[in-house]
Amino acid sequence: RLKKTENYLQTLNEPQREAVLHGGGPLMIIAGAGSGKTRVLTFRIAHLIENGVDPFRILSLTFTNKASGEMRQRIEAEVGTEARNIWMGTFHSVFAKILRIEARYLGYTSDFSIYDTDDSKSLLRSIIKEFNLDDKVYKANVVYNRISGAKNRLISAEDYLNNAIIQADDEAAKMKEIGRIYKTYATRCFQANAMDFDDLLFNTNILFRDFPDVLYKYQHKFQHVMVDEFQDTNVSQYLITRKLSAVHRNICVVGDDAQSIYAFRGANIENILNFEKDFPDVRTIKLEQNYRSTGTIVNAANSVIARNKSQLKKETFTKNEEGVLIDVIKAGSDNEEGRLIATAIFEEKMQKALRNENFAILYRTNAQSRSFEEALRKLGIKYRIIGGMSFYQRKEIKDLLGYLRFTVNQRDEEAFKRIINLPKRGIGDGTVAKIAVTASEQQIAIWDVVSNSGYYIGGRLAGPIDQFATLIKSFKLLIEEGKDAYEIAAHIAKTSGILRELYEDKTVEGLSRYENVQELLNGIKEFVDSDANEDKSLSAFLQSVSLLTNADEPDENEDHDRVTMMTIHSAKGLEFRNVFVVGLEEDLFPSQMMLESRQDLEEERRLFYVAITRAEQKLSFSYAESRYQWGRLKMCEPSRFLLEVDPKFLNVTKMLQTGPERPGAESSGTSFVRNLTPRKPSEPRNMVSAAAHTPSSDFSPSDTSNLTEGDKVEHMKFGFGTVIKMDINGTDRKATVKFDTVGDKTLLLSFAKLRIL
Ligand code: ATP
Ligand code: MG
Repeated sequence: RLKKTENYLQTLNEPQREAVLHGGGPLMIIAGAGSGKTRVLTFRIAHLIENGVDPFRILSLTFTNKASGEMRQRIEAEVGTEARNIWMGTFHSVFAKILRIEARYLGYTSDFSIYDTDDSKSLLRSIIKEFNLDDKVYKANVVYNRISGAKNRLISAEDYLNNAIIQADDEAAKMKEIGRIYKTYATRCFQANAMDFDDLLFNTNILFRDFPDVLYKYQHKFQHVMVDEFQDTNVSQYLITRKLSAVHRNICVVGDDAQSIYAFRGANIENILNFEKDFPDVRTIKLEQNYRSTGTIVNAANSVIARNKSQLKKETFTKNEEGVLIDVIKAGSDNEEGRLIATAIFEEKMQKALRNENFAILYRTNAQSRSFEEALRKLGIKYRIIGGMSFYQRKEIKDLLGYLRFTVNQRDEEAFKRIINLPKRGIGDGTVAKIAVTASEQQIAIWDVVSNSGYYIGGRLAGPIDQFATLIKSFKLLIEEGKDAYEIAAHIAKTSGILRELYEDKTVEGLSRYENVQELLNGIKEFVDSDANEDKSLSAFLQSVSLLTNADEPDENEDHDRVTMMTIHSAKGLEFRNVFVVGLEEDLFPSQMMLESRQDLEEERRLFYVAITRAEQKLSFSYAESRYQWGRLKMCEPSRFLLEVDPKFLNVTKMLQTGPERPGAESSGTSFVRNLTPRKPSEPRNMVSAAAHTPSSDFSPSDTSNLTEGDKVEHMKFGFGTVIKMDINGTDRKATVKFDTVGDKTLLLSFAKLRIL
């Protein structure tokens, strides 16, 4: 085989090459955006394979399936098809694979279902109902987050309950209830032969903790362990990687603390600090040169992130040209923001002969995409949205997948609930709940209840339930006969009645749902036909779709030349020639939920840093002065982040053109800042944000423990208002207040400077 090593080694700078050639032992690269971390990881793997390391013995963990797909392609270009054998993927997909192999150790079968968040929340809702708890106090969403948080810190239901006992009274009662829900939830998942997303990591930890033989096997197997985006691994993920690399100690992690944006999911920047403790002989390599972006973009990003107190010290510079200034676009409304940006894309495309795919629009929340979609459509510019309502989240898709899941795993409670009455069989929710509870009480599978008429409840329903059981039995037979995923799915779509029902619905929506189901079947056909998939079983197909993340959407169209729209979170690791960071308004970005502590605000700032550093040649910011949110028109202030960018990198002419109320303002950065500064113009710029956080004697957080709806309050920034809603979950007590000046605001009571009048 031809060795290509020399080729790619020449495309690396000195520290990058050092990292690629690093022989063995722990290696850590913490470096700024665009400095080639992912590239180093990719070439390092290629280099190992070229030097005789068996690809089966390399474990490489990335953040999205898309990222790992790209990495694999890149390596394949260097070393050939052997690259397909690397254990490469997201934490969830790789450990789901290991859990399937070792399922029996934990009492699962290898075709366990994976509950997505909808499934998990639906199960939680059932349990909360069964417990007769107030679902306003115990919201499925909140309970889900609590349980998820616990699992990511490896706290089991039992631990959680025990912990509740040592808490203060009020909180203890609530924690105990949540602990009880957690326990039942865990039991029900287990009985359903199902794991939720967090279980994939939680159970891997249990597996490696309780079965040393299994751990030993994988520790020896994986000669090299690589982790990209290390800053966003949580404790649970870190423990797994640490254990897996304990024997060979060839662990290479790359990341950037300035891009840590998942603290809310339990990702822990401490991992970076702990790494040096856990691997004292670690070799640390710095990469300081940015290859991605212009000088303007790199320096603007540096000027922003310098404001964060907690960060590791590192430099980033670039030898790329200065490039153009960052446009700041001010719009009167969200719709105008959409139009201005669509026009900017249109003009830039024409002037520079660019393609749609050179552009990305990045926003803080998915809901912002609408105005850009409309405007782009009007100008005939093709786009794609990553995330948002994903293909696999659509009802008709989940319905068919529900049938497929239940055919593979008849203990899957959530799949069962989804399909038992679909199409209508006259079986009510009450009966369904009873079946689930019977199964749970008798400690038997849902299927045992359904397929054995002795168990269930009353004669009237026996007919339809028996019919359902017979139908599922006929589907199971197809698996036993060794039919592939497509044959079975196509058969199920037809005989279950799903396709017929959609076909009969002649509305536009009905038609599009019918097409979606066809599209899913096409996807399954593709899966079966692809050489890359050896296992063509239904179970294998379900595995492959159960862990798709938002960033892994199948391209609905082969046409790749589209403007990309997505949240900043899903843009991590990516790069685009031209980037628009939109919706730069207070309470939107930084998000209102993230204003209450310095840590939160710093996390938002890191998110802003991630957004800026996606751009190669040209960056634009935009904000609107008013915006519809939750069906209401809201006045907006420009984001404090706009003021944090060193003004010498900003081009404000665009804004001044559309800002008629500021005639004659010179187009210099300083005047822009003065114009933007929301409050006292004499305040030093970097103090703008601090103002809202300085405790004042009058407005120190007052005792708001008996605050109720209807109370009149005063807030030091927003003035007078009335409490219209209280939201209490554990220690996070929130109040929604209708203020005379600014409309509705939701405030965290532990921080809000409120005075009860
Ligand atoms: P992020 O922090 O955003 O994930 P990163 O550090 O992983 O960034 P890469 O994506 O690996 O950076 O690299 C950024 C860009 O710079 C890529 O287009 C990459 O191909 C290019 N690049 C990196 N190193 C070099 C180099 N030595 N020569 C030329 N181009 C390079
Ligand atoms: Mg990267």
